[in-house]
Amino acid sequence: MTQRKPIVAGNWKMNGSFELVAEICSEVKKYKNLNVDVIIFPPALLLSEVVKNGIESGTQTISEFDAGAYTGEIQAQLAHELGAKYTLIGHSERRSIFNESDQQVADKFAQAQKSGLTPILCVGETEAEREAAQTEQVVARQIRAVIDKLGIAALNDSVIAYEPVWAIGTGKTATPEQAQAVHKFIRDMLNSYDKQVASSLRILYGGSVNEKNSESLFAQADIDGGLIGGASLKKDAFTSICNSAVGNV
Ligand code: PEP
Repeated sequence: MTQRKPIVAGNWKMNGSFELVAEICSEVKKYKNLNVDVIIFPPALLLSEVVKNGIESGTQTISEFDAGAYTGEIQAQLAHELGAKYTLIGHSERRSIFNESDQQVADKFAQAQKSGLTPILCVGETEAEREAAQTEQVVARQIRAVIDKLGIAALNDSVIAYEPVWAIGTGKTATPEQAQAVHKFIRDMLNSYDKQVASSLRILYGGSVNEKNSESLFAQADIDGGLIGGASLKKDAFTSICNSAVGNV
């Protein structure tokens, strides 16, 4: 099996401050030479501050368009020039609040790669979909939208984050077994397209990860780290989550 280096990614959403960048980045620096990639996704207006601190970073979304008359949008190419290496794509808040469709998500994924950013594709079912036993169907549809547009090889330089919508910001974490089952489903699905992509692609879990549950989640065979919302704004919780990912492959 390919050794996959774990990732701990902090999604600050529309939170944070210049002070918080300084506080968190001085901790995150300590992981530079350890077996974990720590990535901060600050609000776009704080991105250059994170870059200045020498920490891996990304945007929380990007526009699917090339430069042009799109007031208020984040241009992928400029984010890359600024020093961002990654971008979240299709976070559930983008899908539900800003009505991003699977097609638009696939377009953003393409724009990210064209601009040199590594996309972290977020997928996951709502509570109603889980109760209706549609989890696999929903997750497969969201991933297939990208594969259908760009081909399976596009996933080589990307990351997937499985984030059940019912677990995001709710304190209701998926159990390690529930999360592992969906991660395995995703890896098996990718395997049916391309074995190498399936074994090397990193799949993160997101949804109320904290310092108490991170170790058991990250210990699962197909969970390669986490996408952390609320806990990524708290220095002690975030560093303890990073510690639990180090060496966990
Ligand atoms: C997220 O925003 O991607 C997330 C997982 O949030 P939280 O950790 O707060 O549930």
